[in-house]
Amino acid sequence: MTPISDELAEQIRAIREEVVLKTLSVTLIAGGVLLVGNMARNLHLGNPLSVVHPLLYLALLSVYLLRQRIGATRIAWFTVILLYLAATGGLFIYGLAGNSAAVYMAFCFISTSFFGMRGGVVAATLSVGTMVLVAILHIGGRIALSIDLPTFMHNPYSWVAAVLTVGSMSWLVLSQVGRLNARHMKLLAEQHHQARHDPLTGLHNRLALESILDQAIADALREDRELAVFLLDLDRFKNINDSLGHNAGDRLLVEVATRLAGCVRGSDTVARLSGDEFVVLLPRLASPDVTGVAAKLVDTLSAPYAIGDRELRTAPSVGISLCPRDARDVETLIKYADTAMYAAKAQGGGCFQYFAPEMNAAATERLRIECRLREAIDLGQFALHFQPKIDMSGRLTGLEALLRWPGAGESSLPPAQFIAVAEENGMIDEIGDWVIATVCRQLRAWLDDGLDPPRVAVNLSTRQLRASDLAARVAGLLAEAAVPARLLEFEVTETAAMENAESAARHLGELGAMGVTLSIDDFGSGYSSLSHLRSLPLDALKIDRSFVRDIASDANDLAIARGTIALAHSLGLRVIAEGVETLAQWQLLRDNGCDEVQGFLIARPAPAEALAGILSLGRVPLPTTG
Ligand code: C2E
Ligand code: MG
Ligand code: MG
Repeated sequence: MTPISDELAEQIRAIREEVVLKTLSVTLIAGGVLLVGNMARNLHLGNPLSVVHPLLYLALLSVYLLRQRIGATRIAWFTVILLYLAATGGLFIYGLAGNSAAVYMAFCFISTSFFGMRGGVVAATLSVGTMVLVAILHIGGRIALSIDLPTFMHNPYSWVAAVLTVGSMSWLVLSQVGRLNARHMKLLAEQHHQARHDPLTGLHNRLALESILDQAIADALREDRELAVFLLDLDRFKNINDSLGHNAGDRLLVEVATRLAGCVRGSDTVARLSGDEFVVLLPRLASPDVTGVAAKLVDTLSAPYAIGDRELRTAPSVGISLCPRDARDVETLIKYADTAMYAAKAQGGGCFQYFAPEMNAAATERLRIECRLREAIDLGQFALHFQPKIDMSGRLTGLEALLRWPGAGESSLPPAQFIAVAEENGMIDEIGDWVIATVCRQLRAWLDDGLDPPRVAVNLSTRQLRASDLAARVAGLLAEAAVPARLLEFEVTETAAMENAESAARHLGELGAMGVTLSIDDFGSGYSSLSHLRSLPLDALKIDRSFVRDIASDANDLAIARGTIALAHSLGLRVIAEGVETLAQWQLLRDNGCDEVQGFLIARPAPAEALAGILSLGRVPLPTTG
């Protein structure tokens, strides 16, 4: 049985107390009626001593009722002993039943109330035992009672009162116990439900999923079947939550849960693991099913969501693990589905991926990078290289700062790899600040050396662009190094600029207003809308290296490069071609009106010290043109 929570235990305790109190009060009232009746009868029979008993009963009752105020827990023993003596004394004075029965009842219930269930059982045993003993002694002629048994037996009043008291008490105790049980079971059922369901969506939670999956694995292995675990994560959910508020986020999650439940059969399980992570478990499947279900899940969740008066879009990244193919235990199956989900995300999201053992290696590598990155930040292992950009006459127009991580004793990792990891775990904020600060300090050093450095471009990641205090931090770093804003440039990718269109535009606007230059990096490799680009304070577009690479051999790439140049010029922007490696590329770009180039043909990225010559000349020797 599920262990009960403190809260439930407290509720049950309160119900028990209520039951005990009610029973007690009815008992005491019934006992009182019985006593008063007997008192009237005894007075009528000319026995004034019978008044003592009800008075004693009344006094002890008051002690019990006022126990809190007079601190009667300390005199509890005294109270119950007196009640016992009063009842037993009554037996000798009045006979076997009547008053004594009423006082014995009070004795039992007050003992229960003071000393709990055990106290009640002891008191009841003692009462019944005494009554039986006295009856045996009386019937055996060993003791004489003032009113003999036949007189009591022939008095209809005693019978009615006794039957009424016992009957009402039995009814009350039984009905209260029944009620208590019903409440107890209901609370247990509620607690069980709450412990296994997510309060927002009503889906199963992780705990429930784990036990259902555990059972499903056992069934599948026994019946020689396969089962599939889908782990879904919503792309860009955090953005929606951050920009539209948790309320909108919650409504989206509820809608996602409804759609998910609609996609699967009743025998399948849908669970919410946390935040925007869901799991669908197909406990029995024919293998073509899996791909079909995965595609249906992606399609269904990718359709627009009407939340309030907005239309929101998100898409799931789905990772799939299969039992027994991939693993045979709950933890590993979920972990592998998670790994596969990351692989789907790495492909841009909105798709599904089956788990493959190679992914494990990739995930382990990511983890290793993550650990080493933390160390690199602490030990200051990063360095910056700078790559010149020139115009078509060879004049130095700018430098791009590129992060290098020589690594501790290992071959250096390309930035694209470790930056992706740093983006995901948030370390990019710290690393990015270090890059900007280092660039500012480097500019200061060049200025102090009497050089005339050109603008230095820093790459900004999506996450950095999202931070609302970006402009303020940049302003602080520029001021600290006493470097004019015009010497700093930021490169953002189309995807980063589009991802949070509104806040990106605001943050870029603030930077632009400070005098910092902005350009779109890797243009053509992502997706962006022209209307959005027009709203940004841009100075330049950088044509992605992938179009430059084949520009001399692929007519399509040449057409794209030409189109990009024309488009940029019509928007009043400069065009920079990156990754220029050959003379042919250089000539084609020059002939098609490209403004600037950057690439190995001109100069490779190099540490600051290696750039003194180029900086003092202000130009780079042009590649020999044909
Ligand atoms: P990117 O901003 O597009 O940087 C240009 C990349 O092209 C650099 O790669 C550079 O070394 C490389 N490159 C330049 N000329 C040529 C060429 O002629 N041929 C070829 N094959 N490659 C060339 P790198 O340094 O490996 O950087 C890769 C990406 O990492 C950068 O792409 C940028 O997106 C990111 N990155 C680098 N440093 C930073 C940084 O400080 N912050 C952020 N957020 N991202 C950075
Ligand atoms: Mg760049
Ligand atoms: Mg680039």
